[in-house]
Amino acid sequence: MHQFDFTDPLNFLVLTGLMFLTVVFRYSLVAGIFYLVFYVIDPVDFRSRKIFPAQKNTAQFRSEIFWSTFTSLLFALAGAGMVLMWQKGYTAIYENIEDYGWWWIPVSFLIAALIHETYYYWLHRWMHRPKIYRLIHKVHHDSHITSPWTSFSFHPGEGVLQSLVIPVIILFLPMHYWTIVALLTFMTITSAINHSNVEIYPKGFHKHWLGRWMIGATHHSLHHTQYRFNYGLYFTFWDKWMKTESDKYKSNFEKFTALK
Ligand SMILES: [Zn+2]
Ligand SMILES: [Zn+2]
Repeated sequence: MHQFDFTDPLNFLVLTGLMFLTVVFRYSLVAGIFYLVFYVIDPVDFRSRKIFPAQKNTAQFRSEIFWSTFTSLLFALAGAGMVLMWQKGYTAIYENIEDYGWWWIPVSFLIAALIHETYYYWLHRWMHRPKIYRLIHKVHHDSHITSPWTSFSFHPGEGVLQSLVIPVIILFLPMHYWTIVALLTFMTITSAINHSNVEIYPKGFHKHWLGRWMIGATHHSLHHTQYRFNYGLYFTFWDKWMKTESDKYKSNFEKFTALK
């Protein structure tokens, strides 16, 4: 990679193109697996766990894939920008795991996820101000009943704001480049889980010492139906602290996981 100078516009364009293909491939693969399992195969055991009865709204899926593809382009630009900044020596990204030790891999992952969570929670609350909402956040909420394809379905204005946080984190937080890839993959998988319209977590997860801090489909579906609650991205702690967690979460979770 270092033999290419990414300040050269053509090299930067090729890098952005490769990043775009990677992000689109990851989104299609993850959302596609969820779609195949819960909308095509539709296992009997999970039918009682559907947040809303299964429906195939092809027009909605098409629009979600369109916006998600556009968001992928913005994420690719941010990714290429990060590689350029890394090459220029502006970031804290490192290449040898031994530099910080193995223990730092999960710790740096967690710190970055917590910063991302904090940024997103407050950005999200700001995007629910009526004027901002109409301008950049309504596209995401056009999906009242979400699907795995909703994962990256954002207006470009929201896509840009979302893509800024990781490039800022890597300016000061030492992260191995594979830790960054792992975080972005975690972001893609959890977004598919939260929008899948099926509760996949086990019974009692909402009361479990660790599970109670994790957002899932039941939690996030309440954001898409009630708007004023459940703003979180990965974790529930900001919603719990700021008292913005829906009081329907517990009863809904128990309803969807009643059978098993
Ligand atoms: Zn929202
Ligand atoms: Zn959503």
